[in-house]
Amino acid sequence: MRLFIQCCNNNCGRRIYLNIVAPTRDNLARRIGHDFEIRCPHCRNYSAHTVNDVFAEAGDSSVLGGAIVGGLIGLIGGPLGVLAGGALGGAVGANADEQERSRVRIFNKGVD
Ligand SMILES: [Zn+2]
Repeated sequence: MRLFIQCCNNNCGRRIYLNIVAPTRDNLARRIGHDFEIRCPHCRNYSAHTVNDVFAEAGDSSVLGGAIVGGLIGLIGGPLGVLAGGALGGAVGANADEQERSRVRIFNKGVD
């Protein structure tokens, strides 16, 4: 999961990713403060935000990670293991993906 805010410079408007992850906006506010200032790495514009401007999105690497783990198990187990490992890795990746989506939903809805 990644947290981002939208740059409020109309000429930019790009996503600024935060280098911190929190399960909820309340938790984030306790750690970085409710109001904070951030500098856009794209347009160098300083702007003031609150934690309510922060949104979460799912990271896109979990399914791939599962497939790679499965492939490694397959390497150890031989040709038959590649098939089993691939299937196992896919299942692990899909499950992680579902967990990721629910974490994103919880953050964006603002419920604890
Ligand atoms: Zn910007």
